[in-house]
Amino acid sequence: MKTSERMEEIRLQLDEINLEILGLLSRRAELVQEIGELKKQKGTERFDPIREKEMLDNLVEANPGPFDDNTVRHLFKQIFQASLGLMEEEKKALLVSRKKQAQDTVIEINGVRIGGGQPVIIAGPCSVETREQMDTVGAGLQMQGIKLLRGGAYKPRTSPYDFQGLGKKGLELIRQTADKYGMAVISEIVSPSDIEMSLDYVDVIQIGARNMQNFELLKEAGNVRKPVLLKRGMSATIEELLFAAEYIVSRGNERVILCERGIRTYEKATRNTLDISAVPILKQESHLPVIVDITHSTGRKDIMFPIAKAALAVGADGLIVEVHPEPSVALSDAKQQMDIPEFNRFMKGLQESGYLQGVSPIAVK
Ligand code: PEP
Ligand code: MN
Repeated sequence: MKTSERMEEIRLQLDEINLEILGLLSRRAELVQEIGELKKQKGTERFDPIREKEMLDNLVEANPGPFDDNTVRHLFKQIFQASLGLMEEEKKALLVSRKKQAQDTVIEINGVRIGGGQPVIIAGPCSVETREQMDTVGAGLQMQGIKLLRGGAYKPRTSPYDFQGLGKKGLELIRQTADKYGMAVISEIVSPSDIEMSLDYVDVIQIGARNMQNFELLKEAGNVRKPVLLKRGMSATIEELLFAAEYIVSRGNERVILCERGIRTYEKATRNTLDISAVPILKQESHLPVIVDITHSTGRKDIMFPIAKAALAVGADGLIVEVHPEPSVALSDAKQQMDIPEFNRFMKGLQESGYLQGVSPIAVK
């Protein structure tokens, strides 16, 4: 047989052996996973150094060569570690992660399904101010079929001299307006001790950007059974947002809606920089619904329509838009709120462009 023919023959054999080793490694990993499950049920630690040493000693004793004993130890240690790594990954996966739940979480509020494929619009004024203001905005939003009314009663403001919201009175007003127009209430709660009280007024508890890492507030929101709209902190990473959501979900409140509302960058042309890539990343990493606040992220009415389309195009499950009957006299965020005719044009534009029809044109893995 010619040398080249023999080499070809050996190569084929090596390919076969590689596949055999791979098959054996995979079978081994499956058995390790099974034993891991059994240990989990018994509550014992998965890594057992004594057992590992025994296995290595047995292998060294049976070593037929040509590898020396150290090499055999090294090779098998790698195999042991890889199998253990498999279990660690599983253990580390967050409850909010797709690794833990493959299908989308759908949150139903007032007959509206958030995360169910059809984008939802959440609208209302920045702050609840007066009965008349709420009534006018409620009537305007109802004309557009809006079912989720959002308005702030507790306003976390940068300056302590700015309007801080009407507090409980504001919750009462938004509840009355929502009831009158057949809507659900979304409102921000800033203090852990107000969570319990808020349950009488709100259908969704909003946790604002400034409180995304207020862990006591997150825990309290996790203890109740009302959906939570969790906004990304202004300097928070995607991972930190998911951990914040995990605080809530790990306490048994599984209905969390994630909200991208822009992050702080050096750019001054917009109020914040909308991190559009966070939307598909969050949708891939987590099963929770993801919405985009186009008002606070941009702070500019002139670009809200294209930004809304962009958010829906990348897979957002809904949008937050601030609408005020007379934005110029609003007690907060006067510059960025749409008035009712502007909102009507905005909705008409979205409907005509087909973006509200359903599943986003960009498929999510
Ligand atoms: C708000 O939604 O009213 C608000 C204050 O926004 P953020 O927490 O995102 O700044
Ligand atoms: Mn606002």
